[in-house]
Amino acid sequence: MAYEALYTRGRPKTLSQLIGQEHISNALAKAIAAGKLSHAYLLVGTRGTGKTSTARLLSKAMNCDKVHEAQLNGQPPDKKEIPCNKCDSCRNFDSSPDNVEFDAASNRSVEDVTRLLSTAYLAPLRARVKTFIIDEVHMLSFEAVNSILKLIEEPPPNVAFFLATTEINKVPMTIRSRCQVLNFRLIPQTTIAPYLLRLAGRLNVTLQEDAAKKIARLAEGSMRDALTYLDQCYSMADGEITLADVNETLGLISDESLDEIISAVRAKDRAAVGGAITRAFRSGLAANAIAESLITRLRDIEFDMLDRSDRDFSDFDRLIDALRKATGEMNGSGIPDIILEMTLMKLAAPVQNFSMPAQAAMPSENLDAGKKFFYDVVNFLGAEDLGLNKLLDQAVVRKFSGDVLTLAFKSSGVANLLDKIHRRQFEEAAAKVAGRAIKLSVVVDENLPSPALNKLFGTERSNLENAIKTFDATDAVKIRS
Ligand SMILES: [Zn+2]
Repeated sequence: MAYEALYTRGRPKTLSQLIGQEHISNALAKAIAAGKLSHAYLLVGTRGTGKTSTARLLSKAMNCDKVHEAQLNGQPPDKKEIPCNKCDSCRNFDSSPDNVEFDAASNRSVEDVTRLLSTAYLAPLRARVKTFIIDEVHMLSFEAVNSILKLIEEPPPNVAFFLATTEINKVPMTIRSRCQVLNFRLIPQTTIAPYLLRLAGRLNVTLQEDAAKKIARLAEGSMRDALTYLDQCYSMADGEITLADVNETLGLISDESLDEIISAVRAKDRAAVGGAITRAFRSGLAANAIAESLITRLRDIEFDMLDRSDRDFSDFDRLIDALRKATGEMNGSGIPDIILEMTLMKLAAPVQNFSMPAQAAMPSENLDAGKKFFYDVVNFLGAEDLGLNKLLDQAVVRKFSGDVLTLAFKSSGVANLLDKIHRRQFEEAAAKVAGRAIKLSVVVDENLPSPALNKLFGTERSNLENAIKTFDATDAVKIRS
């Protein structure tokens, strides 16, 4: 037997199987019982929430012999029997010439739509009601929308329209006001996970509960995505789907690995952070994916804390903020691994209180004064932003004249990072230290000696700071460059 995707097998066959949209299935069941179905529905919601499935169920129900019979007898049909899936009409629905489905995204021209809709004016061949299901209706051209509008305003007898869209704001008001609107909700994780477990049970597949939860979380409210993920894991797994299978199949980092990184950062154990992040990189994941997984994991931890009325989020908020910022910096940077590692290392740096220098160096045209000023700015910035710190460690003060501080770098990549990402942050600090606006000029000099990385943090850095106060600041700067 050919393999049938779970997505197809998991599709609802009756209104009672429409998961997570009970407000819609209940309203529709009532409308069917009262014989008050509309001839035009606008189904609105994110992808994978059940819009097309609902349109198909309604199309089928409008033609179902059993539903029709129940209506005639004045007995409201049960949601489990809407449609019955047993009568001739139901069984032949998939091949029925009286049900027309098309995707507006690939049939946008007015000719396409006119051709598809032209049959609306002809009586149904076999069915009671001829149905049109149009996906992504907001993608239609202006003329195509107008031809649909005409049909909805003066509908031919025995025709029904189901217009689905993910972007209601792009659907003209003229259409919206003439349709009955059904708003599909994002399906909560707490609904998706148990459904996946039930489905797996029906298929005799062992699905671990934590694996189901992970898939439900990844699906972000879309049942279709959840079933697609489950499908991928199902085809790879050997009879049983575990959390490890989900992580491996979908290329995810395990919660344990993420927790290891988070714990190391919180413990301010930089060696452990280094080890954990190296292991994460070794698993072949991109830095961006790791950062995003960390943010998701931190959010989950915060949600769990809410449940326990544990409200000290400061550590986690700090991590999330820094990771969000790092994700922005990583995009197109060329060195995303380094940025992520630096961000985490910075967060694991011991807490310290850098005070603003009591007397900021007054800028002059003197290069030594420039170095002293630069070092004051570095001190003012503190070890808080480790990414910036590491960049500045590679800077050589080239010139300081008037309001312009020129820094030279051997690496154009590093120079670019400072120039494009951290310029404002640096200039703001420089202005505070100098007491007036300072402009940063960044130059690349490939002939510079390779910069020795400054490994100083925390107390080591404080010691150097004191040493500079005791000895000559400019000598210390020379050591740095
Ligand atoms: Zn039927």
